Amino acid sequence: TDGVGRHEIARRIRTIADFPKPGIQFRDITTLILDPEGLRLAVDGMVGAVQGPIDLVAGIEARGFVFAPAVALALGAGVVLIRKDGKLPGATIAEDYALEYGTDRIAIHADACTPGARVLLVDDLIATGGTARAAVRLLRKAGATVEQACFAIDLPDLGGADALRADGITVSALVA
Ligand code: AMP
Repeated sequence: TDGVGRHEIARRIRTIADFPKPGIQFRDITTLILDPEGLRLAVDGMVGAVQGPIDLVAGIEARGFVFAPAVALALGAGVVLIRKDGKLPGATIAEDYALEYGTDRIAIHADACTPGARVLLVDDLIATGGTARAAVRLLRKAGATVEQACFAIDLPDLGGADALRADGITVSALVA
């Protein structure tokens, strides 16, 4: 995505103060995807950052599910859902990650990835990286090869993208 494209994406993302709790600046992509041009720029930008063949695009619940199928269609890849624990009907494997208070757990179907499947991770936003790093551990535990992740938004001050890079992932984001 070039500078103009980044601006065109950034200006369609709405920031809502103090949601879901005081002090959080919530970056709202619903306004980006309401606009057909915004949706197209975002998907094209994610697709354009991908290097080499991808077998599966893994979307993280819930807003990763918006982008993952569109990116997968463009890449000729399938989609794997990374969900909050307890939502998937088949046998799952799960991974815990730390939150500010307590922990959370995400899961995928145990048979979602054939060994060595090249998986691209997609979500709307990376902040501390806790969610994305857990998703990478989960996919690797499932046998996938995970080397790339793309996000609509990076909050670089929170260090998540750098931590994900240290895990061996090439990270791209449309806006920071
Ligand atoms: P983290 O695990 O800290 O990288 O947080 C990333 C996850 O939380 C993503 O699934 C985001 O959708 C969500 N998230 C975290 N911070 C924000 C924010 N400021 N605005 C919108 N979503 C956020």
